[in-house]
Amino acid sequence: MISIVVPVYDEAEVLGAFTERLTKVLADLDDDSEIVFVDDGSTDGSLDVLRSLVAADRRIRVLSFSRNFGHQVAISAGIDAARGDAVVVIDADLQDPPEVIAEMHARWSEGNKVVYGVRTRRDGERPTKKLTARWFYRLLGRLSDTPMTADSGDFRLLDRQVVEALKAMREENRYLRGMVSWVGFTQCGVEYEREPRAAGETKYTWRRMLRFAADGITSFSDRPLRVAVQLGTLVTLTSFLYGGWLVIGKLINPDRSLPGYTSLLVAVLFLGGIQLLTIGILGSYIGRIYTETKRRPLYIVAETIER
Ligand code: UDP
Ligand code: MG
Repeated sequence: MISIVVPVYDEAEVLGAFTERLTKVLADLDDDSEIVFVDDGSTDGSLDVLRSLVAADRRIRVLSFSRNFGHQVAISAGIDAARGDAVVVIDADLQDPPEVIAEMHARWSEGNKVVYGVRTRRDGERPTKKLTARWFYRLLGRLSDTPMTADSGDFRLLDRQVVEALKAMREENRYLRGMVSWVGFTQCGVEYEREPRAAGETKYTWRRMLRFAADGITSFSDRPLRVAVQLGTLVTLTSFLYGGWLVIGKLINPDRSLPGYTSLLVAVLFLGGIQLLTIGILGSYIGRIYTETKRRPLYIVAETIER
């Protein structure tokens, strides 16, 4: 059996069309299938649409969260609940074409444990988003010790073995695409073109994207901490050299009047800036340690809807 996991947050307008396209694709597969929708605290009536979908098709199940927990957590809940031998994660907004699942399924049958979608084009997204996404994946690739696949989102097929490994990873700050890379196994990519959203708007605001990027970096790299040490060393060494030079100058020429206001101010501002920056880096790691140590459940399911 193959499970399809779909995170849903305010997608009432597209759910009908999405399910129709998806069930067509699933009908052509040789395997049985189930669809697990995770309603991530929608407020636009998505849950009612999902209820009617469950009533119409017994292969559909719905988990409804008690509030919005975020995209990555919604996917995690779906993966926890999935019963299939393979699990496909796909967005509800039809940006990831369901037809690609057939190809992913074929690759899985050949023995691949992870088949991830690689976006060759992203139509209908802001140029700034495309550019920052490109930079971000390359930056993370260089910072992280785990090799990361660039230009692939959460649209991917996971074998049961990978699913069990992921289920054991209960970290609060979740960057799932990195966690899947970390797990290992034979992985391969399937190229596809990302389509514009069928309806509605992106739920990823700039704030959320920044937060997501920071989660990715802090979860998979301690390089920023080491850069902080290197910066500190560099600044200290420079100040020693400069200080020595000033003292020698004073000894050679004690009468030289030194207004020194500019150099003083520049030094103070520069040091202050570096200190704040490194404290900030420390803080972002400590903040994440703090959330991890609480060991709260990742999500709370208010209701499970199935037939
Ligand atoms: N989503 C979610 N919880 C959230 C934000 C988004 O479950 O807090 C879902 C959303 O309904 C969609 C998918 O995650 O199915 C991807 O979100 P979106 O399309 O807004 O992101 P984008 O494709 O713009 O990166
Ligand atoms: Mg989308």
